[in-house]
Amino acid sequence: MKIDVLGISFDSISMDEAVSRGMELTESRSSAIVVTPNAEIVSMCGADPSLKEIVNSAEMVLPDGIGVIYGARLLGRPLKEKVAGIDFGLSVMQELGKRGGTVFLLGAKPGVAEEAAENLCRRCPGLRIAGINNGYFSDDGPVIEKINAVSPDLLLVCLGASAQEHWMGRNREKLSVGLMAGLGGSMDVYAGQVQRAPKGWQKLGLEWLYRLLTEPWRFKRMARTLPAFMMDVFRQRRRERRAARSR
Ligand code: UDP
Repeated sequence: MKIDVLGISFDSISMDEAVSRGMELTESRSSAIVVTPNAEIVSMCGADPSLKEIVNSAEMVLPDGIGVIYGARLLGRPLKEKVAGIDFGLSVMQELGKRGGTVFLLGAKPGVAEEAAENLCRRCPGLRIAGINNGYFSDDGPVIEKINAVSPDLLLVCLGASAQEHWMGRNREKLSVGLMAGLGGSMDVYAGQVQRAPKGWQKLGLEWLYRLLTEPWRFKRMARTLPAFMMDVFRQRRRERRAARSR
């Protein structure tokens, strides 16, 4: 089921459902796209129609962030659960490992994906790393060639929002992969370079606060986008209620 939050059509599914759908897509060999928008990306979509188009045409749109979950609830159409891209990616790689599947790691600073590869091989027994490329390149062509030469089941695209969504959107037709997922800073976490919030914080929906405390440079970005997102949600709610009353 799809749920609209400020013009973005989110999939209302559980993590388990998302992973099995993800596995089906890796087998479809159709270069399917998974995006994992949080409130920040939803706000970016409001200002960037081409980004919105890419996000809404993705095969899976996973609600990654407590802001989106609250937003949907305030609009009276709650999403099933938060499906964090980083957990989704790991679970799909674990499933792929069981089948001897392959992943290509694209993104992050030089050397980071190599460290991520080591950790992922340990955490996802059987997974084969088909290739690696850092996220600092100016020409898509050679990177696409490298990916297509190995045609992985899964391509992780960790170039940060919204660069990764634009990258997937403009290159989809040229790529030969099963499924690709835009996972932001996940490569840094898989590599052990950035720590995730402890489970307790995650359960309380405070992962964003932990990120803010440990990566304070995010403050400016969040301070700009989060309140704007919530204001837009309230405005949308008022509009919808008014429309419902006049019906
Ligand atoms: N990154 C990249 N190429 C770039 C800019 C950024 O590969 O040109 C990487 C960066 O090294 C980091 C990730 O993209 O690993 C962005 O992380 P961040 O936590 O900012 O992403 P977000 O989840 O906020 O999109």
